[in-house]
Amino acid sequence: MPPSCVNGGGQGSLLQLQTIPVCEQEIDLGRENLPALELWNARPGEILTAIDPERGCYRVRLTDLAEDPRGVPFVRLPRPVESRLAIDVYQALPEKERFELILQKLTELGAFRIVPVETARSITLVERDAEQAKSHRWPDIVLRAAKQCRRAMLPELFAAAGFSAALQLATDAELKLMLYEGEETWSFAEALGRLRPERVALLVGPEGGFADTEVNEARAAGFLPVSLGPRILRTETAAIAGVTLLQGLLGDLC
Ligand code: SAM
Repeated sequence: MPPSCVNGGGQGSLLQLQTIPVCEQEIDLGRENLPALELWNARPGEILTAIDPERGCYRVRLTDLAEDPRGVPFVRLPRPVESRLAIDVYQALPEKERFELILQKLTELGAFRIVPVETARSITLVERDAEQAKSHRWPDIVLRAAKQCRRAMLPELFAAAGFSAALQLATDAELKLMLYEGEETWSFAEALGRLRPERVALLVGPEGGFADTEVNEARAAGFLPVSLGPRILRTETAAIAGVTLLQGLLGDLC
Protein backbone atom coordinates (compact mmCIF):
# COMPACT_ATOMS: atom_id res chain seq x y z
CA MET A 1 0.00 0.00 0.00
CA PRO A 2 1.51 3.38 -0.97
CA PRO A 3 1.56 5.92 1.89
CA SER A 4 -1.33 8.36 1.84
CA CYS A 5 -1.85 11.98 2.76
CA VAL A 6 -3.11 12.25 6.35
CA ASN A 7 -4.10 15.91 6.66
CA GLY A 8 -6.10 16.70 3.51
CA GLY A 9 -3.32 19.08 2.43
CA GLY A 10 -2.82 20.17 -1.18
CA GLN A 11 -5.20 21.88 -3.59
CA GLY A 12 -8.28 20.68 -1.68
CA SER A 13 -7.30 22.83 1.29
CA LEU A 14 -7.36 26.09 -0.69
CA LEU A 15 -10.10 28.53 0.27
CA GLN A 16 -11.12 29.62 -3.22
CA LEU A 17 -13.02 32.79 -4.06
CA GLN A 18 -15.14 32.67 -7.21
CA THR A 19 -14.59 36.36 -8.05
CA ILE A 20 -12.15 39.12 -7.20
CA PRO A 21 -13.53 40.58 -3.97
CA VAL A 22 -13.87 44.17 -2.82
CA CYS A 23 -12.10 44.62 0.50
CA GLU A 24 -14.28 45.24 3.57
CA GLN A 25 -17.41 43.90 1.83
CA GLU A 26 -18.83 40.71 3.28
CA ILE A 27 -19.11 37.89 0.76
CA ASP A 28 -20.64 34.46 0.51
CA LEU A 29 -17.71 32.05 0.49
CA GLY A 30 -19.81 29.29 -1.06
CA ARG A 31 -20.63 25.82 0.23
CA GLU A 32 -17.90 24.40 -1.95
CA ASN A 33 -15.41 25.87 0.55
CA LEU A 34 -16.89 24.00 3.54
CA PRO A 35 -14.50 21.01 3.20
CA ALA A 36 -11.47 23.35 3.09
CA LEU A 37 -12.76 25.32 6.08
CA GLU A 38 -13.09 22.05 7.97
CA LEU A 39 -9.51 21.07 7.10
CA TRP A 40 -8.34 24.39 8.55
CA ASN A 41 -10.45 23.77 11.67
CA ALA A 42 -11.87 27.24 11.04
CA ARG A 43 -13.82 29.16 13.70
CA PRO A 44 -16.05 32.25 13.36
CA GLY A 45 -13.95 35.39 13.82
CA GLU A 46 -10.78 33.63 12.69
CA ILE A 47 -8.69 35.05 9.85
CA LEU A 48 -7.56 32.80 7.02
CA THR A 49 -5.98 33.37 3.60
CA ALA A 50 -8.18 32.90 0.53
CA ILE A 51 -7.18 32.91 -3.12
CA ASP A 52 -9.02 34.53 -6.04
CA PRO A 53 -9.24 33.16 -9.62
CA GLU A 54 -6.10 35.15 -10.57
CA ARG A 55 -3.98 33.78 -7.66
CA GLY A 56 -4.46 36.99 -5.69
CA CYS A 57 -4.44 36.32 -1.96
CA TYR A 58 -6.68 37.94 0.65
CA ARG A 59 -6.88 37.84 4.38
CA VAL A 60 -10.50 37.01 5.18
CA ARG A 61 -12.22 37.36 8.54
CA LEU A 62 -14.72 34.52 8.81
CA THR A 63 -18.11 35.77 9.97
CA ASP A 64 -20.36 32.74 9.59
CA LEU A 65 -19.47 29.10 9.17
CA ALA A 66 -22.95 27.61 8.99
CA GLU A 67 -24.26 26.01 5.80
CA ASP A 68 -23.45 29.12 3.79
CA PRO A 69 -20.08 30.31 5.03
CA ARG A 70 -19.40 34.03 4.86
CA GLY A 71 -16.43 36.28 5.45
CA VAL A 72 -14.97 39.74 5.01
CA PRO A 73 -11.82 40.04 2.88
CA PHE A 74 -10.03 43.00 4.38
CA VAL A 75 -6.60 43.12 2.79
CA ARG A 76 -5.08 41.90 -0.48
CA LEU A 77 -1.61 40.47 0.12
CA PRO A 78 1.13 42.06 -2.02
CA ARG A 79 2.26 38.70 -3.44
CA PRO A 80 0.78 35.20 -3.80
CA VAL A 81 1.63 33.25 -0.65
CA GLU A 82 1.88 29.91 -2.41
CA SER A 83 5.04 29.35 -4.41
CA ARG A 84 4.82 28.35 -8.07
CA LEU A 85 7.49 25.80 -7.21
CA ALA A 86 6.17 22.64 -5.58
CA ILE A 87 8.83 21.23 -3.25
CA ASP A 88 8.21 17.71 -1.96
CA VAL A 89 10.46 16.74 0.94
CA TYR A 90 11.16 13.09 1.68
CA GLN A 91 12.67 13.25 5.14
CA ALA A 92 14.33 10.35 6.95
CA LEU A 93 12.66 10.18 10.36
CA PRO A 94 14.76 11.91 13.00
CA GLU A 95 14.43 11.47 16.72
CA LYS A 96 12.04 13.13 19.12
CA GLU A 97 10.97 16.68 18.49
CA ARG A 98 13.36 17.32 15.61
CA PHE A 99 10.73 16.17 13.15
CA GLU A 100 8.27 18.64 14.65
CA LEU A 101 10.78 21.42 14.04
CA ILE A 102 11.19 20.21 10.45
CA LEU A 103 7.41 20.16 9.92
CA GLN A 104 7.04 23.67 11.28
CA LYS A 105 9.92 25.20 9.32
CA LEU A 106 9.19 23.46 6.02
CA THR A 107 5.57 24.60 6.25
CA GLU A 108 6.75 28.18 6.78
CA LEU A 109 9.16 27.89 3.87
CA GLY A 110 6.33 26.83 1.58
CA ALA A 111 6.92 23.09 1.08
CA PHE A 112 4.18 21.42 -0.95
CA ARG A 113 4.51 17.89 0.46
CA ILE A 114 6.28 16.37 3.46
CA VAL A 115 6.81 12.62 3.67
CA PRO A 116 8.49 11.02 6.71
CA VAL A 117 10.64 8.13 5.51
CA GLU A 118 11.96 5.11 7.37
CA THR A 119 15.50 4.38 6.23
CA ALA A 120 18.07 1.74 7.22
CA ARG A 121 19.70 4.09 9.73
CA SER A 122 16.73 6.17 10.84
CA ILE A 123 14.55 5.58 13.82
CA THR A 124 11.29 3.71 13.09
CA LEU A 125 7.91 5.30 13.74
CA VAL A 126 7.23 2.84 16.57
CA GLU A 127 10.55 3.66 18.26
CA ARG A 128 9.94 7.32 17.73
CA ASP A 129 6.41 7.31 19.14
CA ALA A 130 7.68 5.49 22.23
CA GLU A 131 9.84 8.54 22.96
CA GLN A 132 7.14 10.99 24.02
CA ALA A 133 6.50 13.38 21.09
CA LYS A 134 3.88 11.40 19.17
CA SER A 135 3.23 11.33 15.45
CA HIS A 136 -0.50 12.00 15.92
CA ARG A 137 0.52 15.59 16.75
CA TRP A 138 2.05 16.17 13.33
CA PRO A 139 -1.06 17.33 11.40
CA ASP A 140 -1.78 19.88 14.12
CA ILE A 141 1.80 21.19 13.99
CA VAL A 142 1.47 21.66 10.23
CA LEU A 143 -1.94 23.34 10.64
CA ARG A 144 -0.69 25.78 13.28
CA ALA A 145 2.40 26.66 11.25
CA ALA A 146 0.33 27.17 8.09
CA LYS A 147 -2.05 29.52 9.92
CA GLN A 148 0.77 31.42 11.58
CA CYS A 149 2.63 32.10 8.32
CA ARG A 150 -0.62 32.90 6.46
CA ARG A 151 -0.43 30.13 3.90
CA ALA A 152 -3.40 29.60 1.62
CA MET A 153 -2.76 25.85 1.33
CA LEU A 154 -1.93 23.17 3.85
CA PRO A 155 1.13 21.21 2.75
CA GLU A 156 0.39 17.55 2.11
CA LEU A 157 1.57 15.56 5.11
CA PHE A 158 1.97 11.85 4.39
CA ALA A 159 2.01 8.81 6.65
CA ALA A 160 5.50 7.42 7.24
CA ALA A 161 6.75 5.56 4.16
CA GLY A 162 9.32 2.85 3.65
CA PHE A 163 12.33 3.89 1.54
CA SER A 164 11.22 2.19 -1.70
CA ALA A 165 7.63 3.42 -1.30
CA ALA A 166 8.90 6.99 -0.84
CA LEU A 167 10.97 6.78 -4.03
CA GLN A 168 7.88 5.48 -5.81
CA LEU A 169 5.82 8.40 -4.53
CA ALA A 170 8.36 10.87 -5.90
CA THR A 171 7.76 9.85 -9.51
CA ASP A 172 5.50 12.90 -9.98
CA ALA A 173 8.47 15.30 -9.54
CA GLU A 174 10.24 16.76 -12.59
CA LEU A 175 13.57 16.92 -10.77
CA LYS A 176 14.68 14.63 -7.97
CA LEU A 177 17.55 15.59 -5.67
CA MET A 178 19.13 13.61 -2.86
CA LEU A 179 21.06 15.52 -0.20
CA TYR A 180 24.19 13.43 0.08
CA GLU A 181 27.19 14.47 2.12
CA GLY A 182 29.36 12.04 0.12
CA GLU A 183 28.73 13.99 -3.09
CA GLU A 184 31.79 15.94 -4.24
CA THR A 185 30.97 17.04 -7.77
CA TRP A 186 27.46 18.45 -7.80
CA SER A 187 26.67 21.52 -5.78
CA PHE A 188 23.04 22.47 -5.53
CA ALA A 189 23.29 25.27 -8.09
CA GLU A 190 25.31 23.12 -10.53
CA ALA A 191 22.76 20.33 -10.32
CA LEU A 192 19.99 22.75 -11.24
CA GLY A 193 21.93 24.30 -14.12
CA ARG A 194 19.42 25.87 -16.45
CA LEU A 195 16.61 23.61 -15.38
CA ARG A 196 13.49 25.42 -14.27
CA PRO A 197 11.28 22.63 -12.93
CA GLU A 198 7.92 23.36 -11.34
CA ARG A 199 8.03 20.33 -9.06
CA VAL A 200 11.12 19.13 -7.20
CA ALA A 201 11.55 16.17 -4.85
CA LEU A 202 14.18 16.52 -2.12
CA LEU A 203 15.38 13.43 -0.26
CA VAL A 204 17.04 14.10 3.11
CA GLY A 205 18.97 11.42 4.96
CA PRO A 206 19.05 10.39 8.64
CA GLU A 207 21.65 11.37 11.24
CA GLY A 208 23.60 8.22 10.43
CA GLY A 209 23.52 9.00 6.70
CA PHE A 210 22.10 6.90 3.85
CA ALA A 211 23.19 3.28 3.52
CA ASP A 212 25.11 2.58 0.27
CA THR A 213 22.23 0.40 -0.95
CA GLU A 214 19.85 3.34 -0.47
CA VAL A 215 22.12 5.71 -2.37
CA ASN A 216 22.18 3.22 -5.26
CA GLU A 217 18.42 2.65 -5.12
CA ALA A 218 17.74 6.38 -5.13
CA ARG A 219 20.13 6.93 -8.05
CA ALA A 220 18.39 4.15 -9.98
CA ALA A 221 15.06 5.89 -9.27
CA GLY A 222 16.40 9.09 -10.87
CA PHE A 223 17.60 11.01 -7.81
CA LEU A 224 20.66 13.16 -8.37
CA PRO A 225 22.96 13.33 -5.31
CA VAL A 226 23.82 16.91 -4.41
CA SER A 227 26.05 18.54 -1.81
CA LEU A 228 25.16 21.33 0.59
CA GLY A 229 28.78 22.32 1.03
CA PRO A 230 31.78 21.17 3.06
CA ARG A 231 30.19 20.99 6.50
CA ILE A 232 28.09 18.07 7.71
CA LEU A 233 24.72 19.44 8.71
CA ARG A 234 22.29 17.87 11.07
CA THR A 235 19.38 16.35 9.20
CA GLU A 236 16.95 19.12 10.22
CA THR A 237 19.43 21.81 9.18
CA ALA A 238 19.94 20.04 5.84
CA ALA A 239 16.18 19.89 5.18
CA ILE A 240 15.63 23.56 6.04
CA ALA A 241 18.71 24.67 4.07
CA GLY A 242 17.72 22.53 1.06
CA VAL A 243 14.20 23.94 0.86
CA THR A 244 15.50 27.48 1.41
CA LEU A 245 17.96 27.06 -1.46
CA LEU A 246 15.29 25.68 -3.77
CA GLN A 247 12.87 28.51 -2.96
CA GLY A 248 15.74 30.99 -3.44
CA LEU A 249 16.96 29.56 -6.75
CA LEU A 250 13.64 28.54 -8.30
CA GLY A 251 10.79 29.70 -6.11
CA ASP A 252 9.61 32.80 -4.31
CA LEU A 253 12.24 33.42 -1.64
CA CYS A 254 14.14 36.51 -2.63
N1 SAM B 1 26.46 10.32 9.15
C1 SAM B 1 26.89 11.16 8.14
C2 SAM B 1 28.39 11.42 8.25
O1 SAM B 1 28.84 11.51 9.36
O2 SAM B 1 29.00 11.57 7.22
C3 SAM B 1 26.16 12.50 8.20
C4 SAM B 1 24.70 12.48 7.98
S1 SAM B 1 23.99 14.10 8.12
C5 SAM B 1 24.11 14.38 9.84
C6 SAM B 1 22.27 13.87 7.87
C7 SAM B 1 21.78 14.09 6.46
O3 SAM B 1 21.78 15.47 6.16
C8 SAM B 1 22.55 13.43 5.35
O4 SAM B 1 22.16 12.09 5.14
C9 SAM B 1 22.23 14.31 4.15
O5 SAM B 1 21.00 13.97 3.56
C10 SAM B 1 22.14 15.68 4.79
N2 SAM B 1 23.40 16.43 4.77
C11 SAM B 1 24.08 16.89 5.84
N3 SAM B 1 25.15 17.60 5.46
C12 SAM B 1 25.15 17.59 4.11
C13 SAM B 1 26.00 18.16 3.11
N4 SAM B 1 27.06 18.87 3.42
N5 SAM B 1 25.68 17.96 1.81
C14 SAM B 1 24.59 17.24 1.47
N6 SAM B 1 23.77 16.68 2.36
C15 SAM B 1 24.02 16.85 3.67
